Amino acid sequence: MTVALFMHEDCLDHVTPEGHPEQVARLRRIAEALGGPDFGALDRRAAPLGEDADIALCHPQSYIDRIAAGVPDEGRARLDEDTWLSAGSMTAARRAVGGAIAAVDAVLDGSAQKAFVAARPPGHHAETATPMGFCLFGNIAIAARHAMERRGLSRVAVVDFDVHHGNGTQDLLWNEARALFIGSHQSPLWPGTGRASETGAHGNVMNIELATGSGGAEMRAAYEAEVFPALEDFKPELLLVSAGFDAHARDPLAQLNWQTDDYVWLTERLCDIAARHCGGKLVSLLEGGYDLDALAQASAAHVGALLSA
Ligand code: ZN
Repeated sequence: MTVALFMHEDCLDHVTPEGHPEQVARLRRIAEALGGPDFGALDRRAAPLGEDADIALCHPQSYIDRIAAGVPDEGRARLDEDTWLSAGSMTAARRAVGGAIAAVDAVLDGSAQKAFVAARPPGHHAETATPMGFCLFGNIAIAARHAMERRGLSRVAVVDFDVHHGNGTQDLLWNEARALFIGSHQSPLWPGTGRASETGAHGNVMNIELATGSGGAEMRAAYEAEVFPALEDFKPELLLVSAGFDAHARDPLAQLNWQTDDYVWLTERLCDIAARHCGGKLVSLLEGGYDLDALAQASAAHVGALLSA
């Protein structure tokens, strides 16, 4: 079945300061890794520009205007300790939103069964009116809301395996009974949220805390015991994945010890669940991952597993 890959060179124009982990080179390395002969079957598409009305599925217009107004003509502007804007940031962020929405439409319309969106800036830390942790807009929550509000879905699952808690996605979907948000993350770790006791307004949030230093075996056990049964019960009509690759042992920002084959295992299992409940419909969006070699390897392994599902 077809796997669509959404990218756009505008995402290279969101430029962070020298030495910042969320750097342009991340996307270049992923493009290189997915450019090889093993990935000839990918249906490569340009991520369209998301519009204000798309971003407004999750964020107030005043927030969209504030981010747009903060974009500098040259150089960089700082939003918080970690989060920066450059001249191309708003356009890059619109590609990330537009790519996520187009990917949802592609799988719902059947022009692809699965999709991976390799865009930046990432999105899962952006809250309703607060940019955070390298993120400007909640790409995956916007994609979920698009599927529910505009495409009429009533059960959308979001699984976030980035090593950091997806506090933004949790915030944006907290009151959304039609969405199930499940995040696994190292705990304790920045941003400090994502305790198991945070369960959403409708019991629609599940947080899996993984101990510092734990590896693939602990991850697999937690997913088998808690995540997969919750997804089976929920019976999603669409499975969205926040794919961060910073739980990899080589990542400089966190202390989990996942290996590349752990990403293959997890991707295959998520594809099995999508196959059982929603005709395989799965959309994965890039989040974090800051060791460039590990990122290239693990993202290629993830997309390879989508292709062979
Ligand atoms: Zn992360």
